[in-house]
Amino acid sequence: MGDVFQFLNLARNPGDKKAAEVRKIEFKEIYQPLNACDATEQAGRCLSCGNPYCEWECPVHNYIPNWLELVSEGRLFDAAELSHKTNSLPEICGRVCPQDRLCEGACTLNQGGFGAVSIGSVEKYITDEAIKAGWRPDMSRVTFSGKKVAIIGAGPAGLGCADVLVRNGVRPVVFDRYEEIGGLLTFGIPEFKLEKQVIRQRRELLEGMGVEFCLNTEIGRDIQIEQLLAEYDAVFMGMGAYQYMKGGFDGEQLPGVLEALPYLINNVRQHMGTLPAGETALSMKGKRVVVLGGGDTAMDCNRTAIRQGAARVVCAYRRDEANMPGSRREVGNAKEEGVEFLWQRQPLAIEQNSDGSLKVRVAETRLGAPDAKGRRSAEIVEGSIEEIECDHVLIAFGFQAQAADWFERQGIASDARGRTLAPEAGAFKFQTANPKVFAGGDMVRGADLVVRAVFEGRQAAEGILGWLGVW
Ligand code: FAD
Ligand code: SF4
Repeated sequence: MGDVFQFLNLARNPGDKKAAEVRKIEFKEIYQPLNACDATEQAGRCLSCGNPYCEWECPVHNYIPNWLELVSEGRLFDAAELSHKTNSLPEICGRVCPQDRLCEGACTLNQGGFGAVSIGSVEKYITDEAIKAGWRPDMSRVTFSGKKVAIIGAGPAGLGCADVLVRNGVRPVVFDRYEEIGGLLTFGIPEFKLEKQVIRQRRELLEGMGVEFCLNTEIGRDIQIEQLLAEYDAVFMGMGAYQYMKGGFDGEQLPGVLEALPYLINNVRQHMGTLPAGETALSMKGKRVVVLGGGDTAMDCNRTAIRQGAARVVCAYRRDEANMPGSRREVGNAKEEGVEFLWQRQPLAIEQNSDGSLKVRVAETRLGAPDAKGRRSAEIVEGSIEEIECDHVLIAFGFQAQAADWFERQGIASDARGRTLAPEAGAFKFQTANPKVFAGGDMVRGADLVVRAVFEGRQAAEGILGWLGVW
């Protein structure tokens, strides 16, 4: 081990961030990668705590201090192998995890005010640089059992499942209705957080390991579930949560009021050159935009509109900044890029002006008791109404899971909120009520985080391997 007091002399560095003026006119990642020297030094700031809190707070329980030590010793390929033992998408989680709420939030160095080890940036560095240097996952000891599993959904849950299955000699065939893998990684999260080349690189890696992708293929439309059940030894569903949540107030149907996800998806597709015929990507150039919501989707809408050249972007959220669900880092980035936040504002209605423009009526809120998730409820302050004039409203209140129409005939159960029932603590992890079908990710836990979907996909793969008798 190197100098255990390195953190005293060396400040935290998560990678240089481009100036707001530069980044707000381009759809490119805003954090520069660490170079080898910085990565080694940053990794060396780790205290190697005996019982590392960061590992416990990381949803996939990465061996963080161990791979940091490998990086500080310059053993890049060993670090890449170790980081893939627990995480199927380390370079992606390194980019999009809200580290301030997870691994880095738990870093012991925070206690002395020294600034957490830049865990996410080093995690990203390991895989990015290892791939550039020729590293590929070691499959030399894998023998294939002849079993094959159909995976519905090429999002983080499906990819996590495919990764563990193929490493254990079971062939995964991944079906997705979209033209590229990644799920919301590709068709949701904008390029300024995650450039699409990163996902294409991961696809090449997975295909090289023996994962097959059948894209532009919707299960239930192009292929029926019955066919998959007949042709494969098991099925994993990682279909995400796409039921759009509404505000339930007047004016949500007005022209100019848009759902967040189609807006984001078509913007990405336009950049990828895959916009389907007949569809358009809406530009906010010169427009006054109001974004309603306080999660990651809202932040991505804010910052996409800014990059499109919106005249003004106002984000209204019913709680205060401390109680918002989105990543603090991304809220900070949005503020720097010129987004105006109106905290503690509850939307009441959207109205159309005579010239076709819109106004959003909001009321001020006061914060009440914490809810089940620890976030304080928002109660309207009587007589505090104000109006925000705008041209477009983007509604980003989140998404719910939804049962597919084949669930009932295949005996797959879901709860009142549309979440598929597939318990982690069952005899075989993440098995649904139909023993041949497993599920994980947003469709089981509700809209959440990339890293939790990866974890559940990996865990479900273990459940499948146990059920198939491969383990
Ligand atoms: P998804 O990523 O939704 O993937 C599901 C896949 O299943 C999709 O590709 C879909 O096409 C496919 N599918 C569904 N039904 C079928 C069918 N019948 N046939 C074939 N294919 C099907 N999380 C973070 O950690 N950090 C962030 O910064 C972040 N930002 C986000 C920004 C936005 C705009 C959104 C919407 C979410 C964000 N999230 C973020 C959340 C994160 O993206 C999700 O939690 C995660 O992608 C869930 O993974 P999943 O595999 O369960 O589902
Ligand atoms: Fe941190 Fe996410 Fe990486 Fe875990 S996967 S170490 S939470 S960045």
